[in-house]
Amino acid sequence: MKILVINAGSSSLKYQLFNMTNSTVLAKGLCERIGIEGSRLKHSPLDKETVIIDQPMKDHKDAITMVLAALTNKDHGVIADMTEITAVGHRVVHGGELFSDSAIIDADVMKALEDCCDLAPLHNPPNIVGIKACQEAMPNVPEIAVFDTAFHQTMPPEAYLYAIPYELYEKYKIRRYGFHGTSHKYVAERAAIVLGKPLNDLKIVTCHLGNGSSITGIQNGKSVATSMGFTPLAGVLMGTRSGTIDPAIVTYIMDKEKLSFQEVNEMLNKESGAIGISGISSDFRDLYDAEDQGSKRAKLAIDMFAYAIRKYIGQYAALMGGIDAVVFTAGIGENNSDLRLRSTQGLGFLGLEIDAEKNKICGKELDISTDNAKVRTLVIPTNEELSIALETKKLI
Ligand code: ADP
Repeated sequence: MKILVINAGSSSLKYQLFNMTNSTVLAKGLCERIGIEGSRLKHSPLDKETVIIDQPMKDHKDAITMVLAALTNKDHGVIADMTEITAVGHRVVHGGELFSDSAIIDADVMKALEDCCDLAPLHNPPNIVGIKACQEAMPNVPEIAVFDTAFHQTMPPEAYLYAIPYELYEKYKIRRYGFHGTSHKYVAERAAIVLGKPLNDLKIVTCHLGNGSSITGIQNGKSVATSMGFTPLAGVLMGTRSGTIDPAIVTYIMDKEKLSFQEVNEMLNKESGAIGISGISSDFRDLYDAEDQGSKRAKLAIDMFAYAIRKYIGQYAALMGGIDAVVFTAGIGENNSDLRLRSTQGLGFLGLEIDAEKNKICGKELDISTDNAKVRTLVIPTNEELSIALETKKLI
């Protein structure tokens, strides 16, 4: 069985074709600059050279057509023809309250996806365009939507409601949704395998630390609390996002700096977080270099990030009545040993203890705890594409 995974953005489309018999990637690639000058396809087939094809793509339909042509090309293709693709799994950012699981896309689901656009105006519309383009190019192939928000739909109301007038929740569905759900679910499932225990018996805190970061408390396999909120701006400080701040700061800045809603929104999403504090970079590799060279503000940004992560681990341990494991994943979580150490400092009282030698691991699955640690600390590389492919396989 072969499954194509699609992640469509506003002017890009990423894809991976999986052979589900052994979960290997047969080919992956990226269409860039769709609808604008300079469109190109970068296609990397398994065991063959990457090819770059510069060709105009006026829309996502053109992009999908090019992807299918690349996948079936006699030189750099990996399948004989399109009929080898059993199903397509699509990443969809927001499923609102309508989707607590992945869904086979039919007319009703399509309508529901469109209803969710209001909640993610930048992300859901291109996801939908990607789905429609695949439906046109492969009308007889089942399409599945896998949502970033779905995994968090198990949170109880006290975890997802904001203490603003209840009518606003009823009218506009303003509540915590949480994101990165596919990643949190995938690494929690892997953690259970590494620990050799059923996921249903575990209390885990998963830390997805990348450009965007979120932390989730997972009890008996279900998300019970997560740091991102109504939007992915909430929670810990991120590369360019502020994370949670006192909401009164927004109106205060607007008044003092004479900023519009759009300007303050831009500031909190693009000019805050690590780059806002350090004034240097949103990339933590740059911040570590700057800290080594004596930058106090780079150090401050790293310390603030570690502090926020530690606070969430503590909060979720309290909420779940203890924890069995903490999982680190995504660009920073998988590769940055020092950040793993700093963000768990002082958590020995919970039973966490990291083994300095094992903690040197980068990008590989490993239990990095000391032999006697009561709470296990794990590094688990995330794989959102494989997770989408597995969900797709499950549904069809
Ligand atoms: P995104 O959220 O865009 O998918 P990533 O998960 O790739 O982002 O995370 C980006 C962050 O991960 C950056 O701050 C970067 O410094 C860090 N990172 C990525 N790879 C490495 C690495 N090999 N070593 C240290 N840090 C890394």
